[in-house]
Amino acid sequence: MAAHQEKKPEERKHKSTQNHTRTSQVQWGRAWEVDWFSLASILFLLMFAPLIVYYFIMSCDQYQCSLIDPVVDLLTEKKHLSDIWNKTPTLTYRAAGIYTLWVAFQVFLYVFIPDFCHKFIPGYVGGVQEGAVTPVGVVNKYEINGLQAWIITHVLWFANAYYFHWFSPTIIFDNWIPLLWCANILGYAVSTFAMIKSYFFPTNAKDCKFTGNFFYDYMMGIEFNPRIGKWFDFKLFFNGRPGIVAWTLINLSYAAKQQELYGEVTNSMILVNVLQGIYVLDFFWNEAWYLKTIDICHDHFGWYLGWGDCVWLPYLYTLQGLYLVYHPVQLCVANAVGILILGMIGYYIFRMTNHQKDLFRRTNGNCKIWGKKPEYIECSYMSVDGTKYYSKLLTSGFWGWARHFNYTGDLMGSLAYCLACGFEHILPYFYVFYMTILLTHRCIRDEHRCFSKYGKDWKRYTAAVPYRLLPGVF
Ligand code: NDP
Repeated sequence: MAAHQEKKPEERKHKSTQNHTRTSQVQWGRAWEVDWFSLASILFLLMFAPLIVYYFIMSCDQYQCSLIDPVVDLLTEKKHLSDIWNKTPTLTYRAAGIYTLWVAFQVFLYVFIPDFCHKFIPGYVGGVQEGAVTPVGVVNKYEINGLQAWIITHVLWFANAYYFHWFSPTIIFDNWIPLLWCANILGYAVSTFAMIKSYFFPTNAKDCKFTGNFFYDYMMGIEFNPRIGKWFDFKLFFNGRPGIVAWTLINLSYAAKQQELYGEVTNSMILVNVLQGIYVLDFFWNEAWYLKTIDICHDHFGWYLGWGDCVWLPYLYTLQGLYLVYHPVQLCVANAVGILILGMIGYYIFRMTNHQKDLFRRTNGNCKIWGKKPEYIECSYMSVDGTKYYSKLLTSGFWGWARHFNYTGDLMGSLAYCLACGFEHILPYFYVFYMTILLTHRCIRDEHRCFSKYGKDWKRYTAAVPYRLLPGVF
């Protein structure tokens, strides 16, 4: 157990001795038992998520991004599954070399280069930071150096593209399917390793949850915060890098491919690069805030995060750029400006909503939201050892409009990326469909967790702020 990196939180108020209260209130982490619906969803995802990713990428490679044509070909027996599979590029030594170097480089940046950005960038919070209280009352420390890793990686990328020419900037696009096999190997390896680790050498045994169902434990994870050594945190590393650092590089590689194929980069490609670039940079600028989000505060590390971060995120979040390589859309100025405005408003709502909660929680309510003292609901919860904690739920600013208005902003931004691709195909719209399902499910999941955590205080909050995403609608 990594005792040296744990610390009891300062907000602790007193220890409860009531065992009944203790057992009823410590259920606020991930579930201990699996219901049939969760199990069915998990089995579905375990079986079909890798196929979905393959299908999308293959349909671009072999069918110009049409999602319908492969099905039509198969149904009319114009092609057999084996024809499609035989045309699929296989794993290559080159791709394995690129991917190994890539992951090793990101591990190196994460583990061996402590953050220096916070020393000279005003307002940036980096270096050693604390996470939230875990269900067993632990507060982990994290080395926040993602912005630095992102900057170094991108400086090297541009230095290579314009000066060194060690490799072509289209390298990612050119090896996209062989790299998919590498990403899958890592995704499965890390999820399997995390499962074995949780049985034999967990980082914090008390924060492990075993449901007894192999598939659920494999998918949703057993260990809450698996680590190797003092600083290598699986959740922080795999979620941010290699996946999110790669996101902007993948888009740049698509732009380079457009340039190579058509002699120009379209305004839609620039829009996708810029809007998604802002989202990625925002993530790294606010990496310390990310420690307080559901991924880190609630989810255990299993296939959902491990494989999802290695495969699902880099391959499906970048579909718009991939699509634009095959269909270079040139938007008229009015449409381009409209999409830019939608994307920026979405980003503004997303950022301001997250910022309001972060500011409110950091200052313990001693701040101003929209120029006024914030309104809030006092609440309490307990950790496993019966320690009682106090917290506050903000009800002013965007948090007074809806309980998850940050998701609404995120969805507006997601729609903007998709609209940049025009209306010829459905494939680039996958992102906004997926985000709508993910974030709606997340609302429900989070509220279930918060109700288990705060009990009647959460009910008071939902009465004060009755809507989830859209005031007056949902
Ligand atoms: P939030 O940042 O909204 O965090 C939810 C937590 O905040 C709750 O569990 C609760 O935690 C606390 N909370 C809830 N209501 C209040 C309130 N009124 N006042 C103060 N604290 C409150 O959710 P996420 O972690 O899901 O998302 C963070 C951001 O990341 C969002 O903007 C989302 O859009 C984005 N996101 C993007 C994804 C992507 O794939 N692109 C995926 C997931 C999220 P506590 O226990 O501390 O009270």
